[in-house]
Amino acid sequence: MPNKNSLLEIFTTKIALNQRLLKLLNEQKTIGLVPTMGALHAGHLSLIKKSKNDNDITIATIFVNPTQFNKPSDLLKYPRPTQADVAILENVGCDILFLPAETEMYSPTETWHYNVGAIANELEGAHRPGHFKGVTQIVYKLFSLIPADRAYFGQKDFQQFLVIKQLVAYFKLGVELLCCPIIRETDGLALSSRNIHLSETQRKKALLLSATLNNIKNNYTTLPLADLLQKAKTAFKGISDVKLDYIEIRDKDTLAPIVQYKTPNAVALIAAEVGDTRLIDNMMLD
Ligand code: AMP
Repeated sequence: MPNKNSLLEIFTTKIALNQRLLKLLNEQKTIGLVPTMGALHAGHLSLIKKSKNDNDITIATIFVNPTQFNKPSDLLKYPRPTQADVAILENVGCDILFLPAETEMYSPTETWHYNVGAIANELEGAHRPGHFKGVTQIVYKLFSLIPADRAYFGQKDFQQFLVIKQLVAYFKLGVELLCCPIIRETDGLALSSRNIHLSETQRKKALLLSATLNNIKNNYTTLPLADLLQKAKTAFKGISDVKLDYIEIRDKDTLAPIVQYKTPNAVALIAAEVGDTRLIDNMMLD
């Protein structure tokens, strides 16, 4: 139910948003930005709450960015419950929602992209060619439009966070990036807008992702990493309707592979398809 006392302001054009932003800048308000693709859940809300805590004004954006989808079917079926999202933002006390149409963000002849570099060929980049080109395109556009003091992203998309960190450093954008913890269901499943596509049986199978990460975390310092990874891969074998894309242990700053436990700087990252739904998750190991 929409909250009648809500002060959420919704802008669908850059011009209108810009006028509002100029006023906020004049008033020297600090701005927190939370970019999303909508279908909001408690993971998104945790970012908005953190932003509200840190800034005078919180701006959420909802834009299902077509250039970051490498599979047209995934883009087509991406959930877009806009009315419910607006109600959620009203209830959490978000100040501004930017909700642009595709034509507001992209021209039909656009070909530029930021050269993401080697990280684009790793993990998600390898399995979703062009994905990070699309992510950096839209994030650059949002950062150019909205003079945010801070921007909030989830550790859920950890590689994305590192790519955006690199983008911000490259262009020397004056925005502080914050990486917020992964919000999970009580049984461990990381919240994701795509979870609604899972049947009851698939949802149970999806628990294998977080269980695998937990198992790696629990044994990380005691068992050889190659054995741990092999055990994880074996656990996925023979499970119908589930396909493991990767399970990796990487340095959390560079994403370089870690082959032997040495220093406390590791993250385990996993991606798998459960039915037609691709899920990702990760866990810091120390
Ligand atoms: P999305 O709408 O999926 O593009 O996500 C928007 C932001 O919410 C991204 O920074 C995500 O990393 C973050 N996010 C998504 N799921 C979660 C979660 N379970 N916990 C915390 N943040 C999340």
